[in-house]
Amino acid sequence: MTFPHLSLVADPHDRLGLLRTDEAWLAERWADPTGQVLVIAGTRVRPGPDGLEWVSTADAPDGVRVLLGARGEVTWWAVIVPGEIAKAEPDRWLPLRGLLPFLGSGAGDGPGLAPLVFHAIGLAEWHWAHRFCPRCGGTLVPRAAGHELVCADCGKPQFPRSDPAVIMLIAAGEPGAPDERCLLGRNRSWPEGRFSTLAGFCEPGESLEDAVRREVLEETGVAVGDVTYFGNQPWPLPSSLMLGFHGRAVSEQIRLDDDEVEDARWFTREEMRQQAADGTLVLPGGVSISRSLVEDWYGGPLPGSW
Ligand SMILES: [Zn+2]
Repeated sequence: MTFPHLSLVADPHDRLGLLRTDEAWLAERWADPTGQVLVIAGTRVRPGPDGLEWVSTADAPDGVRVLLGARGEVTWWAVIVPGEIAKAEPDRWLPLRGLLPFLGSGAGDGPGLAPLVFHAIGLAEWHWAHRFCPRCGGTLVPRAAGHELVCADCGKPQFPRSDPAVIMLIAAGEPGAPDERCLLGRNRSWPEGRFSTLAGFCEPGESLEDAVRREVLEETGVAVGDVTYFGNQPWPLPSSLMLGFHGRAVSEQIRLDDDEVEDARWFTREEMRQQAADGTLVLPGGVSISRSLVEDWYGGPLPGSW
């Protein structure tokens, strides 16, 4: 089966990393009117009729110019302008998060542009959150077509970062047997019926597999043995790289000590199918890696989503 979350990173652009410091080449490409620019005010964007509004380089405002890369003959850019511009026109600028549904729908800015948008979101969030040098407090100045920030006082460069987060489907029982079951949890703040795979951040000095085991134990009291890699999904809101795993439980008793997790349950495939069909179980949406993990274990598509 194909995994819908991969549509968000399918068809990647050529990031042209080696050309980011070639000022003559950057100026020549910027002068080409076919270039496409996503304007981001702080971390907000203007919606267009079918998703995000891209403008030509000639129509782009002044700001921090970010080279996203090339796809075919077209060069793709982002320009980051101060967040105050969005505050002055709150109706025209929306949080990028609210426009994500357009990325997986196949309409407008469908799956094809998602890697460009995620690249732009990640850099805009990074610029927004990194105003001052973490070593000396000096002012940070962009370079390398928006992919580096360098301190004007001490010269130390900063690079964009991605924080590894693990997301995992834990199963118990004999693989493929009718009573094999998987563990899903729900957050205290979610609407009724919503359940998802467990997830959490990897800590310093910790392997990804150990992060899976620790998070599951902390959130549900379930002990996990074997852990195998499934796939990954960038999630730049603000800077996560979601690393998906399948894990096998070696204990099944659930104990809820973590305040974040309100409930956790084991579901057989039959229970999952019935409850998803009647709406008592609401699973994550199609472009999330969580959905892909669940459907991979289930063995096919399931009805309903957030
Ligand atoms: Zn500094």
